[in-house]
Amino acid sequence: MSKVADSPADYKAPKNLLRDKVILVTGAGSGIGRQAALSFAEYGAEVILSGRNQQKLESCYDEIVASGHKEPALYTVDLHCAEEQPYLELAGTIEQTFGRLDGLLHNASLLGERKAIENQSVSSWLEVQQVNLNGGFLLTKSLLPLLRQTENASVVFTSSSVGRKGRAYWGAYAVSKFATEGLMQVLADELENTSTIRVNSINPGATNTEMRKTAYPAEAPDSNPDPIEIMPAYLYLMGKDSIGVTGQALNAQ
Ligand code: NAP
Repeated sequence: MSKVADSPADYKAPKNLLRDKVILVTGAGSGIGRQAALSFAEYGAEVILSGRNQQKLESCYDEIVASGHKEPALYTVDLHCAEEQPYLELAGTIEQTFGRLDGLLHNASLLGERKAIENQSVSSWLEVQQVNLNGGFLLTKSLLPLLRQTENASVVFTSSSVGRKGRAYWGAYAVSKFATEGLMQVLADELENTSTIRVNSINPGATNTEMRKTAYPAEAPDSNPDPIEIMPAYLYLMGKDSIGVTGQALNAQ
């Protein structure tokens, strides 16, 4: 395993870093996922936009096309779905359309209820685990055969500081992020000697998005960086300079 860049947050991506790469981004309709899709496209990737809201995905699609980047593909996938079949169908469609997959950014998540564990509703708890953890597992499992066929594919899970150190009232969300780190570590270990796929997690850090505003309603939105400012670490993880880095929990800030 090679050394992680000293500071992925300061990474300077070369212009064509992601040329000829096909990268799927979940939650590409808004926030960090939307920006990651735009940035991956800007650096040359063909991006597969996935999310649960078709209109938001179309708006991201339009911006990528208007910027003169490669035309993205768009697939509506609701990670609330716990059946395997739709994920397998998505994998089949990607294989037929592109014949490859170089990158998978698990970005979509739900915040859920900010309450003490004893006050969490069971339905909200289960929904958060399904979307933040189980959906990512199902999507990864269905796409692994395709990722294996590509030389040096990169899988990136999105974590949080509360997925690395527990904090009161972060409930289901924090637990889902701890489990996501676990999934990342187990998968990275399994794949390290059996494939060229690298698997890492990224903690975006406080970033100016709808989720952050919901979690911290009293905070001034401009006190945190916009999604575009945290993109160097995302580009680092998707591009060739992170080849050999696997099983690592990285920070985007
Ligand atoms: P966001 O703006 O709320 O975006 C979350 C995305 O997840 C949205 O595109 C949302 O789709 C999608 N999503 C939610 N439920 C889904 C479902 N059932 N199926 C498919 N997609 C679904 O939040 P963000 O701040 O950009 O968060 C991006 C990632 O960074 C998350 O994993 C979050 O936990 C993590 N993070 C963020 C911060 C921060 O300060 N912003 C800090 C630490 C970690 P809709 O647009 O349809 O709602």
